[in-house]
Amino acid sequence: MTDFTMNTDADGVAVITWDTVGKSMNVMSQQGFADLDALVGQALADDAVKGIVITSGKDGSFAGGMDLNIIARMRDEGDDPAKGIFDGVMQMHGVLRRIERAGMDPKTLKGGKPIAAALPGTALGIGLEIPLACHRIFAADNPKAKIGLPEIMVGIFPGAGGTTRISRKLGAMAASPLLLQGKLNDPKGAQRAGIVDEVVAPEELLEKAKAWVLQAKDADIVKPWDQKGYKMPGGAPYHPAGFMTFVGASAMVNGNTMGVYPAAKALLSAVYEGALVPFDTALKIEARWFTHVLLNPSSSAMIRSLFINKEALEKGANRPDVADQKVKQVGVIGAGMMGAGIALVSALAGIKVVLIDAKQEAADKGKSYTADYMDKGISRKKATPEKKEQVLGLIEATTDYAALKDCDLIVEAVFEDMGVKADVTQKVQAVTGPDCIFATNTSTLPITELAEAATDAEKFIGIHFFSPVDKMNLVEIIRGKATGDVAVAKALDFVRQIRKTPIVVNDARFFYANRCIIPYINEGIRMVKEGVAPALIENAAKLVGMPLGPLQLVDETSIDLGVKIAKATKAAMGDAYPDGEVDEVLFWMADRGRMGRKSKSGFYAYDDAGKRQGLWDELGDKYPVAEEQPDLVTVQHRLLFAQVLEAVRALEDGVLTDIREGDVGAILGWGFAPWSGGPFSWLDIIGAPYAAERCDQLQERFGDRFACPDLLRDMADKGQSFYGRFGPEAEDAA
Ligand code: NAD
Repeated sequence: MTDFTMNTDADGVAVITWDTVGKSMNVMSQQGFADLDALVGQALADDAVKGIVITSGKDGSFAGGMDLNIIARMRDEGDDPAKGIFDGVMQMHGVLRRIERAGMDPKTLKGGKPIAAALPGTALGIGLEIPLACHRIFAADNPKAKIGLPEIMVGIFPGAGGTTRISRKLGAMAASPLLLQGKLNDPKGAQRAGIVDEVVAPEELLEKAKAWVLQAKDADIVKPWDQKGYKMPGGAPYHPAGFMTFVGASAMVNGNTMGVYPAAKALLSAVYEGALVPFDTALKIEARWFTHVLLNPSSSAMIRSLFINKEALEKGANRPDVADQKVKQVGVIGAGMMGAGIALVSALAGIKVVLIDAKQEAADKGKSYTADYMDKGISRKKATPEKKEQVLGLIEATTDYAALKDCDLIVEAVFEDMGVKADVTQKVQAVTGPDCIFATNTSTLPITELAEAATDAEKFIGIHFFSPVDKMNLVEIIRGKATGDVAVAKALDFVRQIRKTPIVVNDARFFYANRCIIPYINEGIRMVKEGVAPALIENAAKLVGMPLGPLQLVDETSIDLGVKIAKATKAAMGDAYPDGEVDEVLFWMADRGRMGRKSKSGFYAYDDAGKRQGLWDELGDKYPVAEEQPDLVTVQHRLLFAQVLEAVRALEDGVLTDIREGDVGAILGWGFAPWSGGPFSWLDIIGAPYAAERCDQLQERFGDRFACPDLLRDMADKGQSFYGRFGPEAEDAA
């Protein structure tokens, strides 16, 4: 069966319909391209055909893009992957160029047949690159549809002519949000941006596209770049305005990516170099840069973590096989910062919420968080007053525990105190039914111990949100010793309803994310104590792709929280506690009232409005900067190894059971260098033998916290990779 079919109507318009077998949205494969090419060729050769409309057989969408599974594997295929990729991409260009030229005489530009794209809805990636090669793009007026080129979000860039065509169509400046940020538009927005030509009523889509095809003249189907004297809108690089654009774009891209995302740089090079040469040569340049990006391990690691594995986890890759556990009514206890956010995201997903706090004012304040959020949405035209009323109508703010009686899930977010949480658990369970699952949002208390207060530990679980709840997409689900499968399924189904990404981990100190992020912060603070320049620490982190340096991060999360965690950890670990050096700095800051952003003073200085200014100069009076400074890579490796070794230990200890969760969780949870695909992907990129060797060197210079975990040593000895040994395709995968 082929994904493309063609029917020619009585007027002589051949309609090619794309309908990928077995998928809800079209995705492109190599075979698909060959089939499309064959049908276009057939239509162009057929005298009875006057023109072509390319559309989709899927309701509400044209195509979701290229099959990324295929792209992620390309760099490992064949004896000469670079040549294989380049030749494959050039073949794609050939197909799309044949569509664009449509049989016209390249000299006279006459005699071609008009080809229109008719998009019923969403058109992403290759799903827009094909229409861009057509002569006119019609889109159904479907406000839910998303149109754009989001490739950059997964570490690649549009490589089927989309980069070259969109920059020539709109100019480099106007194309930059689409290409560099992967900005998506609805159909009307896409028309305003100049991407789509006409937005029409969905039921008229085909009719309008056919009518255009039948009346189009020779001149209507020649692309500007195929006409003599074409000039790039906004100017090519040697035009004064174009020059300014490219200089600015280059600085902006490097500033935003810190040079660690190969795709952004390559994309810019493809646009810049392509703008200096004729169109067909530009396509070749695009293909070269695209090949270059695909050969970089960062692209396949990003695709794997940010697309393939993220989606697999969202679809329930690790969900126990029990009946649907969709949440009907959730009780949120504690309407503080976290509880208010949890109530908001639940109500936005259409779930009824009972929001409880000790005082009515506190409960009301928690609910007002949703009102404020919706008001912001209204002012940005993303929500309506009716929607606000509807969402607020789902939240009942009260102090009365009896209101919880019909809830099938409770998420507790009261003070981080064992006794308070135990008391709340009992009060809740006095009114809820026997099937209600009780979840705690604790960040530091052991789930297994908290479960002791529950009537049934099997129905007790951790659902750990990150702050701010509405922005952070990761949710860490924690299984206590006695947590049952139904509770895990309930938590996963809830996370799916609120459209976030879950990871499921076992109970241990700090679970997974905080377990890895604390050593990162501590390593940064330890370096301050040693006399490493704070600016070097912060910039080293950013230059390796961390969104925040460790000192900024501790300022954001607050220094008193750091002190609290340090004290609790020390009390629990006794003599084995390794972070005395760190505490000296942290406690010294706290003693001076420098609590971070919230006190407008921390490792950074802030102005009166709380805006971060720069690193706090006087820190050097107490911790002078040493004359000799370490090299950049040493600082970066200390910061990265501090995190990834903890991830490996979490895997060794059985806290993590799936490295996909370790990678996806790290990127979404604390922004671990996304270009790397996550801690395990990074270790695979540098290779276990080198990683083990580096551990030995770091251990010798800086201490036992860098000791190579047995697992990593074993993998180094055997020449294994994490995805080879533990990935879903590994033979011995658990
Ligand atoms: P918060 O102080 O902002 O809110 C706690 C709320 O619980 C307050 O409104 C308080 O009045 C209410 N409360 C206290 N005792 C209560 C009781 N007996 N009955 C009803 N309500 C009661 O705290 P928060 O930052 O929202 O944190 C809440 C929980 O979430 C903690 O367990 C914390 O560890 C966890 N958590 C916090 C973050 C974060 O970044 N703040 C992130 C993840 C998890």
